[in-house]
Amino acid sequence: MAYLLYLWFPMTPKSNPDKRKLKKGSGVKLVAQAALPTRHGRFTIYGFKGRGPLDEGIALVRGKLNGKAAPLVRVHSQCLTGDVFASLRCDCRAQLELSLRKIAQAGFGILLYLPQEGRGIGLMNKLRAYELQDGGMDTVEANETLGFAADARDYDFSAQILKKLGATKIRLLSNNPEKVRQLQDSGIRVVQRIPCQPRISKISRAYLQTKKSKMGHILEGL
Ligand SMILES: [Zn+2]
Repeated sequence: MAYLLYLWFPMTPKSNPDKRKLKKGSGVKLVAQAALPTRHGRFTIYGFKGRGPLDEGIALVRGKLNGKAAPLVRVHSQCLTGDVFASLRCDCRAQLELSLRKIAQAGFGILLYLPQEGRGIGLMNKLRAYELQDGGMDTVEANETLGFAADARDYDFSAQILKKLGATKIRLLSNNPEKVRQLQDSGIRVVQRIPCQPRISKISRAYLQTKKSKMGHILEGL
């Protein structure tokens, strides 16, 4: 159902000298880490794997996490059409860039990037949902017509990664109260929710209105 970070992980490492198990218990393993200079600033990129076959995630970490101050965190779900192709159907890429900019400015923080394409339904199903939306459905109706929840994402694995990074108390960049709730239920203290709202384009307006009215996202100016 879900598609992993297929764009990022064509690899099947036979042996990985950097692979090491983190604290016992959670099943989250650090696969590798490397420097990642970006247009927004310098980050360190970490690859994590969990126990389940779908549990893979990336963390871009900015600066030193000292464990005292709550870092600025964005938990971003992969969106091939938005993040890579700059689609205007959704606001994913704009949110991704805004988050990286804000985290870079803050000096320290984390961007988690998770293979939860199409709010967790996978890339091919997301494209099927787009087809239905072109026929007049909104994003929630389309997902439900295909037999999925309006939002099939789960943030427990994200919480596990945050814990491994020592970020149990965070300031979260998000418009999604359900994300805040799930992270808190998984043991992450969200001390502040900071809106992540880029400028709204004409094309994505209807989509965002649905997110607001049917999914409870907190969005201004709609
Ligand atoms: Zn998107």
